[in-house]
Amino acid sequence: MRRPTRGVKRLDSAACAGQNTPMSVSRHFPADYREARAKFLAAAASAGALTEAIQHPLRGPHGEKLFTDVAWTGPRDARAALVTISATHGVEGYCGTGCQVAWLEEGLHRDLPKGVAVLAIHAINPHGYAWTRRVTEDNVDLNRNFIDHARPHPVNAGYASLAEVVTPPAWNPTTIAGTTRALDAYRAQQGEAAYKAAIFSGQFVDPHGIFFGGYAATWSNRTLLAVLRRYLSNIPHVGVIDYHTGLGPYGHGELIYGLPADTGLFRRMQDWLGNEVKSTDLGTSAAQPINGMNQAAMVQALPRSQVHVVALEYGTWEPPAVLNSLRADNWLHKHGELDSEQGRAIKAEIRHALYPDADDWRNLVWERAVQINRGMINGLARA
Ligand SMILES: [Zn+2]
Repeated sequence: MRRPTRGVKRLDSAACAGQNTPMSVSRHFPADYREARAKFLAAAASAGALTEAIQHPLRGPHGEKLFTDVAWTGPRDARAALVTISATHGVEGYCGTGCQVAWLEEGLHRDLPKGVAVLAIHAINPHGYAWTRRVTEDNVDLNRNFIDHARPHPVNAGYASLAEVVTPPAWNPTTIAGTTRALDAYRAQQGEAAYKAAIFSGQFVDPHGIFFGGYAATWSNRTLLAVLRRYLSNIPHVGVIDYHTGLGPYGHGELIYGLPADTGLFRRMQDWLGNEVKSTDLGTSAAQPINGMNQAAMVQALPRSQVHVVALEYGTWEPPAVLNSLRADNWLHKHGELDSEQGRAIKAEIRHALYPDADDWRNLVWERAVQINRGMINGLARA
């Protein structure tokens, strides 16, 4: 895959954890879900964190048990807490795990201001992580699932008309080329906004398609909100960093705010993190408005807290390569054989699309993560 041509923003190294060398950061990133969990638990133990393991009802591809793990560092009676979340989109978890593990292993938890704690939620979608998928066990895009399922679901007629194009019955060079032409034609005819809304905003018409929001709150949705309520209900000031990958220039971390931007919360986050907090509401983000994003649900889950939530979205490769990897994986689970040469090739493709397994990328990710974690923590300490 070719890297995006837009420039990669390099951060001032003074903003980084000074003792880190490029080689040392990479070792905190895992090779698979099992290693991710082991690294996270080891880091939490060495940091003396309070931990909890929440088991998922299903197993991983090697028969392994699956867990969402949480680790609390800092005072239990904190007046402010930063939450970090990895693997909302399963396979994107390599990035979040690396940042969560590095934070603990590099000792940054020891620098917390008085009264501030950090709650790391590791692998909120452990099934997708272990199976190298972006979605949950029920093919749900977790970040389209936080919606009131008792009410009529949003209509996405564009996706309905494209479902067979997005996921054709066969996946080979001929069908890939043909369906890509059809998607390009739709984009040219309907315009960029309609195309993005059809594909990316979330759809509730094809349970076997991509970006499917689900018809009920999925396990990871319920688990996330339960963890937030259990640990944070009495904490006045809460910040959330939800790690993602796959959108934007290589290694660049965009801060995406998906809630209405005409609020004091948004202005305060810009005060803490600079005007690099982008708004889907204002159209300043690379991401477009989406249905069922987790941000509003997290705010609603903590009615006694001021909740400052942002997605930290790291760019990987060019959009067509990322989208094709998601389409391929969707085809594989709908029509293909996981245990086949093509199945293994598709798994390698989606993993690479959402996790550039390279030191330069990991270093950019970590530098940005330190900057944003510290910005949130310092802001929370002043709140
Ligand atoms: Zn994501």
